[in-house]
Amino acid sequence: MRRLRRIGSGAAALLLLVGLLTACSSSTNQSASCTVSPNGTPVTSGVPAEPSSTNLALHPEVATGYRTGMTAVRTGDFAVSTANPVATEAACRVLRDGGTAADALIVAQTVLNLVEPQATGIGGGAFLMYYDAAGKTVDAYDGRETAPAAATEDYLRYISAADHTVPQPNARASGRSIGTPGVLRMLELAHNEHGKQAWKDLFAPAINLADQGFEISPRMAGQISDSKTDLARDANARAYFLQPDGSPKPSGTTLTNPAFAKTLSAIASDGANAFYTGAIAADIVDTAATTSGGRTPGLLSLADLQSYQAKKRTAVCSPYRAHEICGMPNPSSGGITVEAALGILSNFDLASMKPTDLGGDSDTARDGGKPTAEAVHLIAEAERLAYADRDKYIADSDFVPLPGNSPQALLDPNYLKQRAALIDPTKSLGTAKPGDFGPVPVGDGPQQPEHGTSHISIVDKYGNAASMTTTVESAFGSFHFVDGFILNNQLTDFSAEPVDKDGTPVANRLDPGKRPRSSMAPTLVFDRNPDGTRGGLSYVTGSPGGAVIIQFVVKTLVGMLDWGMNPQQAVSMIDFGAANSPTTYVGGEHPAVNAADNGDHDPLVQKLRQYGDQVSVAPQSSGLSALVRDGNGWIGGADPRREGAVLGGPR
Ligand code: GLU
Repeated sequence: MRRLRRIGSGAAALLLLVGLLTACSSSTNQSASCTVSPNGTPVTSGVPAEPSSTNLALHPEVATGYRTGMTAVRTGDFAVSTANPVATEAACRVLRDGGTAADALIVAQTVLNLVEPQATGIGGGAFLMYYDAAGKTVDAYDGRETAPAAATEDYLRYISAADHTVPQPNARASGRSIGTPGVLRMLELAHNEHGKQAWKDLFAPAINLADQGFEISPRMAGQISDSKTDLARDANARAYFLQPDGSPKPSGTTLTNPAFAKTLSAIASDGANAFYTGAIAADIVDTAATTSGGRTPGLLSLADLQSYQAKKRTAVCSPYRAHEICGMPNPSSGGITVEAALGILSNFDLASMKPTDLGGDSDTARDGGKPTAEAVHLIAEAERLAYADRDKYIADSDFVPLPGNSPQALLDPNYLKQRAALIDPTKSLGTAKPGDFGPVPVGDGPQQPEHGTSHISIVDKYGNAASMTTTVESAFGSFHFVDGFILNNQLTDFSAEPVDKDGTPVANRLDPGKRPRSSMAPTLVFDRNPDGTRGGLSYVTGSPGGAVIIQFVVKTLVGMLDWGMNPQQAVSMIDFGAANSPTTYVGGEHPAVNAADNGDHDPLVQKLRQYGDQVSVAPQSSGLSALVRDGNGWIGGADPRREGAVLGGPR
């Protein structure tokens, strides 16, 4: 076992260590467990190298390079993976102490609010897939933000019906992008149904960390630097993230967040009502309505917050090879689109198209090897076809029904077989046409990648599992900062234009109370019994990445299910795929991709171009995690492109 990169040094690391050790004593055990080594560094496996010097400037959230040679983490009967080692460790301790996956989620989410505020926090939304082992049930929880009741279909593009100027300084950084946050109500609902430890105790790790201080990580520092102009517009954000002279606080700076400690203390004592009503709700409404810095106010109201409801949806489950994949239904397009792509791919013998240079088990993982052009082309084509349907048909089904009023029409095996027949193994479709399900509203085309999101995968001692993707939408959301947390800009996931060029209303247009379409794809995979019924839980996975999440998750599932990769190999593997456009992405940050001269010298890129794929080697910024059951417990992998870590019980 090797150690993850140091997360701190000097006095701040000591403060952090003291905080963590008061919750749980340290151990020198070097196997995967919730331990803190003497220098304050969480123990995990992996061989994290310094970030590569790849040019990552193309991404809205700056990536932190690629940690080559990471190896899988083998744990006992519980495991957790989050995007930050401090959050992973705090959640791991709850699991070790008998908490459930639902308990550990609350700890992970609140600690991430501090150490990864660019991606996630209680001012945002989330989707959660939860497996309850005792009841053998799979629940899909929807904590997606809603549009304010006062929002009109032009809310994001015009200041008012009388004033057709655009919100200032732009829709995202104005108050107009802020939806009613949903994650806390959702966690409360999941905790009511699946929690074991007292709600009030689960906030202590984040309260301690906020009071005692923690260090800004390299990734967080990069994001602050990238967003400094927008953060400077908001007095609270400026004071927290920037130095007095306006320069960004660098990596290693100690941050305390007493306002967040106070917020969490109120929520710990009084439940999520402390957030959705009373003083915190009033602060949120005032902040969304601010005109400071020349910002156009949002119309979020106390009534929007008070009436917000997290929802339980029916999980979307469909067979893939010997497994059953369960994902999130709309308003996320994630589950349906991942499963549609896999359903199309089940008509091809992908197992015979394994990546080359894969090496053996985790100790010779070789970052997932190099996928073949044949396989990348096929998978990208299946994704084009799946995205074509997504773009046209999927939105919040409480407002816009799916074809056939159910996800199953888009996932019907016969329909997907017809879609598979459209694929030519040596020629790109370019842009695929959606299937014909009659006159339903036309969609708004593929989204650009956004990166204000985090994924958490957890399995507990009781066999329960949680796969939760949680987001403030773009890095630092709307840049409005209140009571220690960032407010989301989730409403920019609505189509800005309510009608398409023919005047037909788009499915994902903005309506009051509606939830914007998402691509988040928290996923649970089960074995399938010979009679087709659901067997045991075998995989937990998910990723941030905006609309590209779907491609990241498909790649990882194919790596594990078709190519027999361990979870670290599958998440480390080159990120590749396509939305419904002629561009096929091959992540140029990966050490096995020669991204020089636009990939002109890379054999995989060359071959794909022969098929007619327009290949982009822009660096990808997935934040995948995957946990896989084996005979002795769980094996985990965390994305080498971010700062995540896996920890768990000892074997
Ligand atoms: N807001 C996006 C969605 O719901 C996620 C953004 C991201 O992953 O960075 O699909």
